[in-house]
Amino acid sequence: MGRTRKPAPRARPSGNTPRADLVLRRLVDEFKSGGITETISKVAILKDPNDNRPCMSWSLKNRVLMVGQGTFDARNVAQWNRVNRRVIARRSAIYIIKPLYAYSCAHCAKGAAREAHLRYARPSGLFECAACGLSVEPRAVRGGSDPAVLRRIRGFGCQPEFRVEDTVGDALPEYAPARPPPLHGVAAKWGIQVKYQVDPSGSSLGSYEARSNTIHLGTESPWVFFHEISHAADSMVLARSGRALKGGQDPIQEAVAQLSACVLSEMYGMGSTRAHTRDYIRAQARGSGERELVRLALDVLDRVEGVLGLILSTAQELGGATASGQEDGHCGDGARAGKIRDH
Ligand SMILES: [Zn+2]
Ligand SMILES: [Zn+2]
Repeated sequence: MGRTRKPAPRARPSGNTPRADLVLRRLVDEFKSGGITETISKVAILKDPNDNRPCMSWSLKNRVLMVGQGTFDARNVAQWNRVNRRVIARRSAIYIIKPLYAYSCAHCAKGAAREAHLRYARPSGLFECAACGLSVEPRAVRGGSDPAVLRRIRGFGCQPEFRVEDTVGDALPEYAPARPPPLHGVAAKWGIQVKYQVDPSGSSLGSYEARSNTIHLGTESPWVFFHEISHAADSMVLARSGRALKGGQDPIQEAVAQLSACVLSEMYGMGSTRAHTRDYIRAQARGSGERELVRLALDVLDRVEGVLGLILSTAQELGGATASGQEDGHCGDGARAGKIRDH
């Protein structure tokens, strides 16, 4: 770690290790592409008072890096072993960055003689100042609290971590928001599993997987939940006429979910998403011919009607009184969900 072991040729002006330069590039790309806005909302919103994931104590930049590498939970091998999980063979690590420090003697580094480096002396096992003979315990040096030691960041290095998706073992505690969103009872009634974790594709704040009847939420925003439960309802409505949701982002089914969520959001006093929805629908409609637009509008409105009808009638049946009837959720062990919670 902080040992003064000479890393291979290091004439890099950044003072970073080569791998750290690559990892930092990732952050820069997030900024350039604007993806940073979405990533930040993913890492900043999920907050559970009982959350004991080690990453909760990481800096924001490291949590951004972690989510950018497709996970909400990354730990080192020892930390995984402590919760009875192990890293699957041949899975590779993801990398976060850590500062590399240079230590110098506070007494001798004053004024011009800035290069009063404290060097680790192997025989004594202490950090020593060549000028004044000061010697300090490694723990005190690295802890950064000893007033005799000056610490400055000389660059960045990398720290390997493994994604939860690359481990197997005991089940982890499921994340549960302090306040479940309105209509969560409807999802329970329909046997939908709502999982608060990064969606498997890692590309959006939420997703609905029809195959396993699972909603993945990477945020507590009720609006995202409304959008996903609308997809679920749409899927049920389509099934009546032998149709099914299309895989991926289909413009029509996205418009259906978006408009339905917009209406639900206003009905449940969660604020209006009209402006956002309008921009979204416009973008979907751009480039379509007049005739296609008419078809799109008619199809979308029919489906929105079906979606809202189904959701609201179910909510009415539940009376909003009882906390979600525990419908003994048939374990929709979708390939992905199953993988995470193996054994
Ligand atoms: Zn000194
Ligand atoms: Zn969607």
